[in-house]
Amino acid sequence: MESVAKDNGNEPISNDSVRTSDRACSVCRTEKPREETLRFVRADDARLLWDARRRAPGRGVSVCASLPCLNKLVGGAGKAKSSLQGVQALGPCTIDDTFLSRLAAQLQDDVLGQLGLLQRRHVLIIGADPLMTAANEGVAIGLVVMAADTSLRTQTMLRAAVGDVAVTVPIKQVELGHALGKDVVGAVAVKRATLDEALLVRVKLWSDLRAQIGEGQHG
Ligand SMILES: [Zn+2]
Repeated sequence: MESVAKDNGNEPISNDSVRTSDRACSVCRTEKPREETLRFVRADDARLLWDARRRAPGRGVSVCASLPCLNKLVGGAGKAKSSLQGVQALGPCTIDDTFLSRLAAQLQDDVLGQLGLLQRRHVLIIGADPLMTAANEGVAIGLVVMAADTSLRTQTMLRAAVGDVAVTVPIKQVELGHALGKDVVGAVAVKRATLDEALLVRVKLWSDLRAQIGEGQHG
């Protein structure tokens, strides 16, 4: 086992081990940096499960952390299997209708857990006003997470300040606050210097997945 990196508050938190080799996506076959892929393993009940920390024993497959490849993974499960040979090598796998919604729930837990860790390391900027102050002072912001019920005015202001690293996530301010040990939090930011790129990728995927699932099953 690798030793745990010394926590000096300046290093990005990484769920992954130190290795940084690229992996080919089992769906599109493209080589991607690890932080842009998700590792899946076959659970005992034959379901395909996201291995958030890439530490589950046994064989795994990597898939781009993006809707197109994940949708093809789900769609390909019931069809001709030639495009998913890497997945089949795991053994018979179940990828059912709940696969994407379970993944979205897992991503939510993972993201909120990582934000909680950053909060305990005191490297999270909490609240729109401190965030704007930091941005105005020239602090490079790597990620802004905004609750869905944050006012549109605030969301627009933050997007204007930091661009497309501002992501609206499908939870309320009270839920975001709860994850951070506070009452209500509309927005949090991670400085680029302390951001693990994988976190940005996962926040975006969580948001995209929920948007897609929401469209598909209204009410
Ligand atoms: Zn892919």
